[in-house]
Parts: sequence; structure tokens; C-alpha cells
Amino acid sequence: MKTFDELLENYAQVAVEVGVNLQKGQILVLQAPVEAKELVRKIVRRAYEKGAKYVHVELNDEQLTYIKFTYAPEEAFTFYPMWRAKGFEEMAAEGAAFLQIYSPNPDLLKDVDPKRYATAAKTAGTALKAYKSYLMEDKAPWSLISAPTESWAKKVFPDLPVEKAIDLFWGKIFSISRVNTDDPIAAWKTHNEQLHRKVAELNEKQYKQLIYTAPGTNLTIELPENHRWNGGFSLTPTGIPFNPNIPTEEVFTMPHREGVNGVVRSTKPLNYGGNLIENFSFTFKNGKVVDFAAEKGYETLKHLLDTDEGARYLGEVALVPHDSPISNSNILFYNTLYDENASCHLALGEAYPTCLTGGEKMSKEELKAAGANDSLIHEDFMIGSAELNIDGITKDGKREAIFRNGNWA
Ligand code: ZN
Ligand code: ZN
Repeated sequence: MKTFDELLENYAQVAVEVGVNLQKGQILVLQAPVEAKELVRKIVRRAYEKGAKYVHVELNDEQLTYIKFTYAPEEAFTFYPMWRAKGFEEMAAEGAAFLQIYSPNPDLLKDVDPKRYATAAKTAGTALKAYKSYLMEDKAPWSLISAPTESWAKKVFPDLPVEKAIDLFWGKIFSISRVNTDDPIAAWKTHNEQLHRKVAELNEKQYKQLIYTAPGTNLTIELPENHRWNGGFSLTPTGIPFNPNIPTEEVFTMPHREGVNGVVRSTKPLNYGGNLIENFSFTFKNGKVVDFAAEKGYETLKHLLDTDEGARYLGEVALVPHDSPISNSNILFYNTLYDENASCHLALGEAYPTCLTGGEKMSKEELKAAGANDSLIHEDFMIGSAELNIDGITKDGKREAIFRNGNWA
């Protein structure tokens, strides 16, 4: 039985070697909540041991975020320190690796006017667009992991005293991130190979359309010509594999921007910037959200959809079996990194150019012409359940079962 310290050490190893797969002489940029400082120290040490040239660490504190959104003037949300945006872009251009410990408090901004967050997100999205494109196009290795914080653990395990909740939470994270295995690096190799096999099958099929049916869902999604499914590790332009998400259970591609029609209902809440949007649905016509509803967080959802034109179109379609490790834990995490890997999902907003053959070499105009969506946002939302069926329409018009009752047919 491994001690907590050994498991945390393994987790740091998985983040550095499997997540961003840091190479000798590379810069590592690490963003993390202050509460994860123990893990941060292990990651930084390991990064230097692996030969990092320089590690840039940014710690964030949710209380500082709360103070800003509560007390700062409106102009604070239309301002972005451009030196930081330029610095990030510069580091990406130099081939730095970007690692983030993503642990937002799901209720942090629930009493704050959602317009404030929407404005801040748009300002940051605009300022960071050039840097973000390095990540969206796999030009710089990047990875998201997570670590429990007090506020988040209380939300996920409300019936437990907070210390117990955090302990239990760590155990779940170690298990779903394959860190508690004898050889986590080997476990990830096997897992990546399994995902790549699924990807190869779907790429071979080149379905023209996917048809989703479930209670409250009746949706047709057209896939663009030469679409490419991805999953497991990605490759940098020089062929270095990295895993953008730890954990990851999905295979994904892009829908055709104008080829989405019908209705889809969410099956899990969406945590958008410290605000929960719950029991929501969208009606699509020729790709665009023309109607929507939400039992909770309607205003937040409205602001999200109003970010820009592309925010009302889809940029990702992802398949995750209902019978998968995270889903079987039966825990609602209120964190997209975990919830999206427990459920089939779609994303509003920008598409990954790597989901088209040769897409990473296309101009903005070429991508749009090929069916890819562009937006400042990329926001996954969960639609999977044990009642979801998905059919694929082949190029010659045959209808095949892909998912039955939430799992691969
Ligand atoms: Zn996804
Ligand atoms: Zn996504």
C-alpha cells in the first residue's frame, strides 16, 4: 500500500511525464491554486530533475478572485495586463509546456452579477487568443490536471467533515488518474493505445452524420469531410506525445459548423466560472442555437452564448461510454475535467483544428470553409446517460449503431 506522499509523487510524475511530457531544455509554465502547494513543489522539483530550463509558476487564490469580482470597479473587467498575454505567447512560441491544476470552486461567484464574469472572460479570451491558438493547434504541449480544494471538496462530499472529504477526494483523483497503479506510466501507455484504436476505427468509418436520441434529446450532427477523431495523447509538431487531459476517457472530433439540427438536453450541471448552470437544453437550426432553457443559471448561460457569434455554434463532439471509471464512481464533480470524461459531451465554441486532416496548417478562412467553428469560448457540456443511443450514417447512407444505452454498441 502506497503512502499519500508516494501517491502524490506519482501524480507529479504523471503530470510532468505523461501530461506535458516535459523535454530537456524546455520551459514549464505551471498555474495552480495555492491550496495545491504540496503538489506544486513536487511538480517543480520533478520538472527540474527532467531537465527543465526554467519553471514559471503562477499561484491563484479563489478568495482573491472573489474579492475582485465583488469589489473591483466595472473597468477592472475590461482591462487585461497585456504584458502577461504577450509573455504567455512568447513562451508558447519558444515551445514551452503549459500545465494547469484546474480546481474551480463551483459556487464561488454565485452571488456576483454573471455579466461581470462574462465580461472578464471575454476580455481575457481576446487578450490570450494568440497564446491559446498554440494550445488549440497542439503547437505547444499542454495539460490539465486537478487537485481538491476545501470549498470544492465540501461541494462534492457535502455530508463529510472537510478533512475526510479532501482525503476521499484525493483517493478518487489518484484512482481515476491511474496514479495508484503499480506502474502509472505503463498504465497510461496501455490506456492511450486503447483510445487510439477507437480513434482509428472511427477515422476509417468517416461517418457523414451522427444521430443522438435520449429523453429530451433528438439531435442530428453532420461531420465535415476529412474530419479526424482524436483521443488519448496528441503530438507536437516535432512528434512529442502529450496528454492534454489527465484523466481522459473521450474520443472527439468536430461537427460541421452549420450541420447541427434538433434538440439536446444536458445530463450534468455545468460549472462556468464559479456559477452552475443546471438542467439546460438547446435547440439548434443549421448549426446555431436558436432557443435555450435552463432551470438554474439561465442568465449565466445567456451571457456565455452571447460572448460572440461562434459561441452559439458547436466546436466539439465527444464520445465517452457511460460504463467508464469516472462515470462508475457515481460522483458529480462539478468540474468539467472530470465530468466530461464521465459522459458523452459537446462543446460550444471553438473547434480544434486538429480535428480536420491537415487542419493545423489551414488559415482561419480555410478552416471556416471546411466547417470548423471559431469563437473565444470552448465550453464542454455533458449529454451522456444510460439512455443515450447514437447512430452513424455512413457515406453510402447506411445507418449503424455506435452507442446503445450509453455504451459502445
Ligand atoms: Zn472533450
Ligand atoms: Zn472540449
